[in-house]
Amino acid sequence: MSKWPAMLAPFIAEYAVSKSLDIVDLARCYKCGLKYFLDRYNDREASALYSNYRGSQYYISRHRYEFWYTRNLNGVLGKDSKMVCRRKEHLLQILNRNNIKTQVFSVMDWGGDQGQHIPDIFTERFVYEISDAKPVEGVTKLTNMQEVRMRSFDIVMLCGVLEHCSDPKDMVRLISELKTKFLYILVPFEPFKMIRIMPDSWYRKYMKFISHLPNLRSLVDFFTAICRLKLRLIPPFGILMQHEHLNYFTKDSVKYLLIDNGFEPIEISSFNFSFSFDPDMLVCLARRK
Ligand SMILES: [Zn+2]
Repeated sequence: MSKWPAMLAPFIAEYAVSKSLDIVDLARCYKCGLKYFLDRYNDREASALYSNYRGSQYYISRHRYEFWYTRNLNGVLGKDSKMVCRRKEHLLQILNRNNIKTQVFSVMDWGGDQGQHIPDIFTERFVYEISDAKPVEGVTKLTNMQEVRMRSFDIVMLCGVLEHCSDPKDMVRLISELKTKFLYILVPFEPFKMIRIMPDSWYRKYMKFISHLPNLRSLVDFFTAICRLKLRLIPPFGILMQHEHLNYFTKDSVKYLLIDNGFEPIEISSFNFSFSFDPDMLVCLARRK
C-alpha cells in the first residue's frame, strides 16, 4: 500500500463530520490498484450525509464551499432523462449479450432513488430506498431490510453506491445473503496519476496553508477536479479532496470484491453514458455462487 496526503472537503467537514478541516490520507493497494481514503465515515456521519441527500440544506451547505455546484446541477443529477434512458438500455444490453435477459423478471435497485433506472420491461420492479423519494410508476418501494429479505429477485442493481461505502465488502456480502441470482454493479471509473514534486512533509504544509485561504482553496479544488477527470492526473500543486466518494475502483478491485464475497463475475467492462463531464463507469455483471 502506498499513501498520499489529501484534504477533507470543507463541505463534508461542516455538513456531515462536524470537525475542522483536516489533512487525510489516500491509499493505493499494490495488488488490485484500488485507491481509497483511510478515514471512513461512521454510521452517524453517513446518515448525516445521505438521509436528506440533495435536499435544500445539502445544496445550501455544499454550494457555499463549491461555487460550481449549482442549484440546477443539484436538481438534475441522476434525473436527466437522456442519461436515465442510456442507463436502462445498457443494463438490457449487458443482460442480452450474456444470454441471461430471458431469466430476469424481478429486479431490485438498491439505493435507487425513485427506481427510475430500472428498465420498464421487467414485470416486478422494486427499489430499496431509505430517503423519502417517491417511486416512479410501476415501481414498488421497499423501506426496510425485513421487506427486502422476505422477497426474492432475479437481479439486484447496485449503481453509484459502492464508491460511497465505508465498507464495500460488507455491502456486497449483505447482497449475497439476499435471494438473488445476479448482481449488476455500476461505479465511476476514474483512474488518475498523482504527480508530485514536493516531499511529503512540504506537501502537507502547503495543504495546511491553503486550507486557511477559502477562495484559493476553492479554486485549487476546482482545478484539481478538472485535471483529475479530463487529464487523469493530480498536478503538482493540486489537492485531492475526500468528498462523498471514498473508493476509486479498478477492474481488478471490483473482481476481487465480488469473488471474495459470494459472487462470480460474468462481465466487467468500462462504459461512458454521456458526452459531458461524467466519468467513465465500470459496469459489472455477476452471478451468485
Ligand atoms: Zn486490493
